[in-house]
Amino acid sequence: KGARVLVAGGAGYIGSHVVKLLGEAGCEILVYDNLSTGKEEAVLYGHLVKGDLGDRRTLEKVFREFRPQAVMHFAASIVVPESVKFPLRYYRNNVVHTLNLLEALEVSGCKLFLFSSSAAVYGIPKEIPVTEEAPLAPINPYGETKATVERMLRDLAASGCGFRYVSLRYFNVAGADPEGRIGFNYPEPTHLVIRALKAAKGEIPQLEIYGTDYPTPDGTCIRDYIHVTDLAEAHLVALDYLLSGGESEVFNCGYGHGYSVREVVRTVKEVTGRDFPVVEAPRRPGDPPILVADSRKIREKLGWKPRYDDLAFIVKTGWEWETRLSAS
Ligand code: UDP
Repeated sequence: KGARVLVAGGAGYIGSHVVKLLGEAGCEILVYDNLSTGKEEAVLYGHLVKGDLGDRRTLEKVFREFRPQAVMHFAASIVVPESVKFPLRYYRNNVVHTLNLLEALEVSGCKLFLFSSSAAVYGIPKEIPVTEEAPLAPINPYGETKATVERMLRDLAASGCGFRYVSLRYFNVAGADPEGRIGFNYPEPTHLVIRALKAAKGEIPQLEIYGTDYPTPDGTCIRDYIHVTDLAEAHLVALDYLLSGGESEVFNCGYGHGYSVREVVRTVKEVTGRDFPVVEAPRRPGDPPILVADSRKIREKLGWKPRYDDLAFIVKTGWEWETRLSAS
């Protein structure tokens, strides 16, 4: 392989797992990250430039010097309730900064782009599992920012400039590198699996379940949890696809089946062997009841083969990572 890949946000949770696989595959990597939530030590391969996507000068300089063949973009804010509270921050960080990145790409002549999109673009889907053909209908500002970028990408690709992209719509990403070298590393996590692991560790006093009156079998929301390394592998197959001339495409990244919040909590208790208090709390704004991917397209078109479709394994790798941090 040996492709030259610029990875924006490569020091973060998902980006760092992708950088690890790219490095193992022999790619030349430049990570561009402002380290706002990312960690230098999470970048296992390539060269790290500390820079912000708001800083167009540095960005253009990096493109001129590194001359990437493809760009992957993980640098974004991802917390739904925070986006409800601070929408403009989300539009700046996720939309304006992506626009800067795309303009830098255009100036440099780089034509290939991989975008981290989200199942949040679907809002409350009419059909479950949801296919890529479902309309973009987000119900929170976070999802709006991802849908807006997808429209920019579609229009740029249609403009005849030769630009091609793959947008990967992530479902609920969890777990950590099975080799234990990297994992989730963020001071105040909001995502369910991490919060449940923190509760199991005793780092937070209890776990709240946000909403027990949803139209689901046990009343709690259902999500499609995907292991971060399987998601990272999807980026490698998508990169190969673009490098070998593939047309612009959008793919769901999930396993195609979901678990309720209560099922996740039960699995975390079983895998960790720890009990912790769980309290029922009101619904959280912006949460759709059920999000499960129809993932046939990425399996069929890109040959993506997930290896870790097992909630207990996802939780186990997350737990190993969490407990390693406290041991050191
Ligand atoms: N959730 C919960 N308690 C928590 C964190 C999350 O009940 O401490 C619920 C949340 O309301 C949603 C599901 O777990 O129904 C997944 O939320 P998460 O924030 O992990 O991911 P999202 O689907 O919002 O991207």
